[in-house]
Amino acid sequence: MAELKLSESRDLTRIERIGAHSHIRGLGLDSALEPRAVSEGMVGQTAARKAAGVILQMIKDGKIAGRAVLLAGQPGTGKTAIAMGMAKSLGLETPFAMISGSEIFSLEMSKTEALMQAFRKAIGVRIKEETEIIEGEVVEVQIDRPAVAGAASKTGKLTLKTTEMETVYDLGAKMIEALGKEKVQSGDVIAIDKASGKITKLGRSFSRSRDYDAMGPQVKFVQCPDGELQKRKEVVHCVTLHEIDVINSRTQGFLALFTGDTGEIRAEVREQIDTKVAEWREEGKADIVPGVLFIDEVHMLDIECFSFLNRALENEMAPILVVATNRGITTIRGTNYKSPHGIPIDLLDRLLIITTQPYTKDEIRKIVDIRCQEEEVETSEEAKALLTHIGVETSLRYAINLITAASLACQRRKGKLVESEDITRVYNLFLDVKRSTQYLMEYQNQYMFNEAPVADGDED
Ligand code: ATP
Repeated sequence: MAELKLSESRDLTRIERIGAHSHIRGLGLDSALEPRAVSEGMVGQTAARKAAGVILQMIKDGKIAGRAVLLAGQPGTGKTAIAMGMAKSLGLETPFAMISGSEIFSLEMSKTEALMQAFRKAIGVRIKEETEIIEGEVVEVQIDRPAVAGAASKTGKLTLKTTEMETVYDLGAKMIEALGKEKVQSGDVIAIDKASGKITKLGRSFSRSRDYDAMGPQVKFVQCPDGELQKRKEVVHCVTLHEIDVINSRTQGFLALFTGDTGEIRAEVREQIDTKVAEWREEGKADIVPGVLFIDEVHMLDIECFSFLNRALENEMAPILVVATNRGITTIRGTNYKSPHGIPIDLLDRLLIITTQPYTKDEIRKIVDIRCQEEEVETSEEAKALLTHIGVETSLRYAINLITAASLACQRRKGKLVESEDITRVYNLFLDVKRSTQYLMEYQNQYMFNEAPVADGDED
């Protein structure tokens, strides 16, 4: 029984993990940024993928900040998929933040604060921690043992041959403390982690000569080769500016990082952090890594947000902004003016525009193939052909959505392979947009708030 539960829960997790874009593993480009026909889960849309690849290269070079790209195209033509492909192709160190235009409207924080947080989630800071490993040989060890009233009192002196004598004396004292005076001998090779003070005995490079022993127990002296004494090890931490903000925001505390319940962060906190980061940069302790901020459904932003974006892009730390929309010429939210994609002309003018094109039948077929594999649904060739036909006649999304449903229908009839009959079954169960609209046209009088002509006196 327990076993059954376990496997059930595992299956559930697996289903949850198959997201709409989980088959996308990159942009599918070769080293010359040429798109391969089908690669890394990506099919077709070659011009857009190539353009996205060029942007990606610019991001990887890390030299530019504040560029903005618009992915524009009809619904279901892979705009989000391309953005996900970009995210997957970036290294782990380059932050990628993703929001939908509608997410910034909340009662907890102002729209511009939400956008500011999103921006700062897309700006990485590489902090270099100064961890210095001094690896050297003990060249002189002096241990005095004056016997005071029978007590074994010990004082130690230790010298390492290195260029940084002051630190070495300091570390030498720690070393004696850590390893014990008697255990430190001439010829011992040790490593000292300067940041943590941890001392490790690595072994011995020279065998102790009898002559040295003959000099008495107090002083030992061994030469060691130059150039092998110091090794600097750099430990690099990558965090986002937003994470630094949250950790330093006293009202929220760092736990908010995990809950996401960050609330508004005060402007002074951000100013202090910016000043500190600027100092680190000057001292060579930190670098800024501009990442990517992807705003899907960008037409949902309003005029205030657009003007915020214009301004934010001028900051030298600004990330690359990628926005996507499927809208044509439409009203800019918060105004009565219309504009292409509902984006004000001054912002549009800054954007590099990448358009996506509708898919051919062949491309839809390939995406259907990939999705069947991703969802682990074994499907007959005929059923795939039917799904492709449905994709052409209705939409790619609708066809993709039918795959899991058809697989359930197949399980229901205890089948192993999804056949056309399963597809037909779910096609009749779930309407696509066209059929749903048609249905509404026929029955709209029976719905509430329909657009049927209003009777006199009903208007307010
Ligand atoms: P909308 O404008 O409605 O937001 P969109 O252009 O963002 O649509 P997506 O969500 O990217 O469209 O695409 C719909 C589905 O098709 C997703 O599951 C996506 O992963 C898949 N898809 C789209 N284009 C491709 C492609 N070129 N290769 C593989 N899968 C794709």
